[in-house]
Amino acid sequence: MEELQRALEDRSLTVSNVPEKGRCLFTTRDFSPGEVIISQEPYVSVPNNSSAESRCDACFESSNLKKCSACQVVYYCSNSCQKSEWKLHRLECEALSKLHKERRMAVTPSIRLMIKLYLRTKLQTERVIPASAMDNYKLVEALVAHMSEIDEKQLVLYAQMANLVSLILQWPGINIKEIAENFSKLACNAHTICDSELRPLGTGLYPVISIVNHSCLPNSVLLFEGRSAVVHAVQHIPKGAEVLISYIETAGSTLTRQKALKEQYLFTCTCPRCSKVGKYNDIQESAVLEGYRCKDNGCIGFLLRESDGNGFICQQCGLVRSKEEIKQIASELKSLSDKAPISTPSHNYQESVSVYRAIETLQRKLYHPFSISLMQTREKLLKILMELEDWSEALAYCRLTIPVYQRVYPGCHPLLGLQYYTCGKLEWLLGDTENAVKSLIKAVDILQITHGTSTPFMKDLFVRLEEARAEASYKFSSEE
Ligand SMILES: [Zn+2]
Ligand SMILES: [Zn+2]
Ligand SMILES: [Zn+2]
Ligand SMILES: [Zn+2]
Repeated sequence: MEELQRALEDRSLTVSNVPEKGRCLFTTRDFSPGEVIISQEPYVSVPNNSSAESRCDACFESSNLKKCSACQVVYYCSNSCQKSEWKLHRLECEALSKLHKERRMAVTPSIRLMIKLYLRTKLQTERVIPASAMDNYKLVEALVAHMSEIDEKQLVLYAQMANLVSLILQWPGINIKEIAENFSKLACNAHTICDSELRPLGTGLYPVISIVNHSCLPNSVLLFEGRSAVVHAVQHIPKGAEVLISYIETAGSTLTRQKALKEQYLFTCTCPRCSKVGKYNDIQESAVLEGYRCKDNGCIGFLLRESDGNGFICQQCGLVRSKEEIKQIASELKSLSDKAPISTPSHNYQESVSVYRAIETLQRKLYHPFSISLMQTREKLLKILMELEDWSEALAYCRLTIPVYQRVYPGCHPLLGLQYYTCGKLEWLLGDTENAVKSLIKAVDILQITHGTSTPFMKDLFVRLEEARAEASYKFSSEE
């Protein structure tokens, strides 16, 4: 711990234990928006490899892959990636190769993550792999496991997984209970590694980043550059403040967010947004994000259940929607949603578009215009329409999501920045350079804070903005 404190001191950070909260990361100087607060390489990581998609074990790249010929489980994109992982994979490869082929193919990313955790610790103990203040097993030991709060079913599952790990490692005297506890640690502490567009690529354990606590109104954001986790300040953070990121999708009512945090991270959030639970503003926000729309199409009031329980009354104009009418639309919506494909295979895009369009129409009738469900349906339509290269309809849906994004992702949020970016790309493709420039500028304003300025993704965005600007000024001068 002392070693870690010294390493953090150099980064103007400090760890303190706060009663009820546990370890917290605090700043010892001011940080400005966009500044990197802390970054860390994973202690261990695995890509989300499945039969549908594989990625390089070292860099998560999905092209030019070659399978490890010995174990046939792990992929690499290049010799240098294979070499960089070899010390660790050599042991993993040996263990995996001993398994029966069918069993080997069934080894999940979580099992691999645990195998790697044990092997890396062993290699660090034997000094084959160097350890440092921010890279050692003691940091993993210090992570919370919340064992007492896990239900029986989950404990049984962890015990089964621990047995499989023990079977693969075949270490005499390995502690199965400790492996099970480590599975619980991974569930509460491991991070989903995403690309710059926030698409999930894999899972990693970052024991120092794990010290950073959650808030539904965070002052920082965690993103990834390749496998390294980088925390950027998204607002001015004064000296002595706690660094906070969001662990969950923050678009949702307080009850929805709290449920997600309790289920996955086993704690109750007491952030400023959550502490408003039950107050009028919070009830209003829930009714807007997850409730029904007013009968009058021109009214954007929010609806609350009538005291007699027979309907929902608009808090702005007083119109009432009956329970029966709402039930009717909701059941139509349900039978449509049951037909909607969970994932869309490419040959079914046209069919999916018509299902989601019908869902969108019904949701518009049922839900408040700022409804999160409606926003999510429009996101699906946007994605499928982009696959179909129907740029103009895609743009229409993209634009409809922006006001909802502004509301549910306030301040400097990567998802809002990315949505402006998509909007700008579509406007550009449709020849609307003037609006493309405006959208790309909004994207840059947010993303240069959340993503930094040096990644290939951001460099690409800067180039696109310059191109759009050049074309807009050319158009302008030729119109004169
Ligand atoms: Zn690679
Ligand atoms: Zn191998
Ligand atoms: Zn909260
Ligand atoms: Zn109304």
